Amino acid sequence: MVAGRGIRMRVAVAGGGIAGLACALGLARAGHEIVVVERDPAGALDDPRGAFSWERAGVPQFQQPHVLVSLACRELRVHAPDVYACLLEAGATEILGSHPDAVADPDLRALCVRRPVLEWALRRALADEESVTVRHGDTVRNLAYDDGSAPGVNVWGLITDAGLVTGDVVVDALGRTSPMPGLLADLARAYGAVPGEVLVPRFTGRAAYEVARGIPCGMAYYSRYYRLRPANPARPGHHFVAAAADFGYASGVLFWAEKEAGEQLVGLVISVPAGDQELKALRDEDFYDRVVAATPALARVIGPGLADPVTPVRPMGGLRASWRRPVTDDGRLTARNVFTVGDALCHTNPAYGWGASLALSQAFTLPAVLAGHDGDVVAAQGAYARRTGPLVEDRFGSGVALDRGIERIWAGEEVDVLAYTMEPDLFRMRGLSAAAQAAPLAHQRQGRWAGCLDPAAAIDADEPFRTDAAAAARVVRGRPRPESERPPARDDLLALVPS
Ligand SMILES: Cc1cc2nc3c(=O)[nH]c(=O)nc-3n(C[C@H](O)[C@H](O)[C@H](O)COP(=O)(O)OP(=O)(O)OC[C@H]3O[C@@H](n4cnc5c(N)ncnc54)[C@H](O)[C@@H]3O)c2cc1C
Repeated sequence: MVAGRGIRMRVAVAGGGIAGLACALGLARAGHEIVVVERDPAGALDDPRGAFSWERAGVPQFQQPHVLVSLACRELRVHAPDVYACLLEAGATEILGSHPDAVADPDLRALCVRRPVLEWALRRALADEESVTVRHGDTVRNLAYDDGSAPGVNVWGLITDAGLVTGDVVVDALGRTSPMPGLLADLARAYGAVPGEVLVPRFTGRAAYEVARGIPCGMAYYSRYYRLRPANPARPGHHFVAAAADFGYASGVLFWAEKEAGEQLVGLVISVPAGDQELKALRDEDFYDRVVAATPALARVIGPGLADPVTPVRPMGGLRASWRRPVTDDGRLTARNVFTVGDALCHTNPAYGWGASLALSQAFTLPAVLAGHDGDVVAAQGAYARRTGPLVEDRFGSGVALDRGIERIWAGEEVDVLAYTMEPDLFRMRGLSAAAQAAPLAHQRQGRWAGCLDPAAAIDADEPFRTDAAAAARVVRGRPRPESERPPARDDLLALVPS
């Protein structure tokens, strides 16, 4: 089937998470016909609160804290402003992230809202699109393809439990465990890749295989949501983090979440080294509460008498950073007509909050590249790879480097996060965060990098800024911290484990 600019294409989308739903929305609004195949059952759309009880076995992080950082906000505001408005109406807390003493940057913002509400808003918007069908409760099993006579297979659909879903274009939005990138690599090996170099791969051979398989992030999470009591004075300002505690061997970050019936919710994530058997005790809610109460920065906001838990403690582990580009070692596409979006393409440590930004920006790039290539889907695939590649490479590189840096710090190694030449990633994340407490410019620039608006190079290449920021951070970090402000040392914390 030939498809072209203005011609309605049929698109088969595998997976209805953030990436699949956003793809369907963008493509439908560009005039295409979409079928989304999603394994999990449909949930009711009448009330955002109902989304918390949706059955989402396919998304283990469904109930884990999610913050939409700046790029995700910009993507929604540009491509789906109705979804952004719907989230605000549903109670999402919008953080305007510019420092009060800096020139306001309209892109520097975050939307603090729980993931079920985000999916609910995307699904609700899709429900109004007549050209979208979401087949819930159906499982994708394979790609439908012709091996053809020329090199490079032609993919023309999805084989699912309920039958065949054909498409001029097929989208892999199956999330971080998607088998499709591996399947596509096998097809390219068996039948040849699509002729013509698309991009130079960053990793090849064994390294590409390891990166595709995923590099352990080295952390496990224990999260819990709280509702602030009405008399609690804590209110969102220009930070999407309500409080943070650096234990030295673990960390705690309290995120703003949405408002529910006018009451402010917050979500706490305590991150610990993966495999730390003693800290697994954080699954115990009594222990979790005691850790909060014993940690001054957290206790000030959600300590006894200030907030009430609204969820159990939810653990999450087994996380890996992966990057699975659908190109061969010599830079050619593995198959025709397939686009890989969201976590299926790249997943980084969720502690950095980049996943939804990448997923949304890739999803909304898809209709643009299809429109720009006049029916030549292979050319659109190349354009998509070139447009989405740099951000993915930037975040994957930073994410993995940060994971290793934090691992070293938690293992007790002395690491100077202000030594920006030696530790560029820790400097951007931790050094600039300290500088931001004294220097509004550092706040703005760190926010743009952490929010996926600026690449690492924007900071790494600016030597005068880094020097000034390091000096500001040195002053902040040199301030004496009273004993009463320190989070518990590891032994003191473990002494809190209920017997
Ligand atoms: C603990 C945790 C916290 C996070 N916090 C944040 C955050 O604060 N901010 C942020 O931006 N990102 C965060 N992320 C990342 C974010 O969740 C992901 O980037 C995002 O879910 C990617 O969306 P996706 O659609 O690509 O994948 P998914 O959301 O995983 O969706 C994949 C979909 O495919 C479906 N599926 C799978 N296999 C099949 C099949 N065979 N047939 C049919 N359907 C199938 C699944 O049911 C699912 O609906 C977090 C991740 C984790 C793990």
